[in-house]
Amino acid sequence: MNTTLLVTFHWHSDSTGEYLIHRSSFSRCETVSLFSLDFDWKAIIMKIMTKKEKIESNLICPNCSHKISRTKNGFYCENCNSLYPILNGIPILISAIDERKRRESEYHSWISNRYRDLHKMDTYRNIYYHHDSLKPITNLKHSSKTLELGCGTGYDAAYLLSKGLTVVATDISIGQVTQAKKELSKNKFKGNAFLYVADAENIPFADKSFDAAYITAALHHLQHPRKALMEMKRCIKDDSFIVVAIEPNRYEWLVVIGFLFSIFKKTLYLFSSSAALIARKEKTEHWREPNLERTFSICELTSLIEHSGLSIIKVKAIWFTLGFVHWFTTLLSKMSKRNWYISRDAERIFILIDNFLSTLPLINLFCCNWTVWCRKKETKNLNF
Ligand SMILES: [Zn+2]
Repeated sequence: MNTTLLVTFHWHSDSTGEYLIHRSSFSRCETVSLFSLDFDWKAIIMKIMTKKEKIESNLICPNCSHKISRTKNGFYCENCNSLYPILNGIPILISAIDERKRRESEYHSWISNRYRDLHKMDTYRNIYYHHDSLKPITNLKHSSKTLELGCGTGYDAAYLLSKGLTVVATDISIGQVTQAKKELSKNKFKGNAFLYVADAENIPFADKSFDAAYITAALHHLQHPRKALMEMKRCIKDDSFIVVAIEPNRYEWLVVIGFLFSIFKKTLYLFSSSAALIARKEKTEHWREPNLERTFSICELTSLIEHSGLSIIKVKAIWFTLGFVHWFTTLLSKMSKRNWYISRDAERIFILIDNFLSTLPLINLFCCNWTVWCRKKETKNLNF
């Protein structure tokens, strides 16, 4: 006997599916209900979506926090009719920014192609302490989603991508993000890197979108650092954490040295009739970094973090002797217009000394920078 077996699926509007079997043998057809299943539509759709679509499904309007979606002209918010352009493949997810933020953004775009040299990012001390601060993130499971604020040229993002993580890197400066895109396109991990121009104080991502978030050497540039910390807290899942890395210590006597140095510089200008010197001063006048940078004593920083609804897991004092090495080699490089470095082995010795000094009470208050690991207040203790 020639029998045909047909299996069909009937979907119910309440997301419940029922398997029905139609057994047909020419003239006869009977329907047998076998079993019912509950379908989690959201989970099924998430499985079908690409990684990029998943990231974009969490985007919200920086103006009204409504969900935004990609159109051919950019990202569109149907709630407030805002359209966010995409320039050179980079979405610009910024609503109105004030004059200070605009200047900060322009200054960092201006220095973007020499940013790594300027801050000596390829030195062993920078590599060591950046990697050290990000260690808990590298311990997350493969493909965990991390958010970076103030990504600069993608230095830390590249490291986390090499560890198999998915990184959403943001910065307010389009020049820096463009440079980061170039850097991250060089390696094979680009499928896991997502770049956006965004304001750290108004992050365009929905609540609990990320497994961790970090901000490295950027909090002190912000006008409202507490707002940025609260935004990071909002964007991470309940059991995740935040790294606030390499923030400058309030180093009162270094301020005195800085003040004396500025007098020395001004005196130099006063007695110099060199046209070149004056021309150089005029050229850089407009592009001087906005006077936004701040420093934090450890009490200020931990209090800021705690008032943002976060709990401190661990604080590390970093860069004692290395602070001088960095300051001195940077100064020499600026003055002589050639790069000054110390050997990698010498840096290793300084790191050993600094790590020892960081364990000494009182002495460790005189570090150059702080790194703080923290979590949501309501989360149970996390083990690092
Ligand atoms: Zn909107």
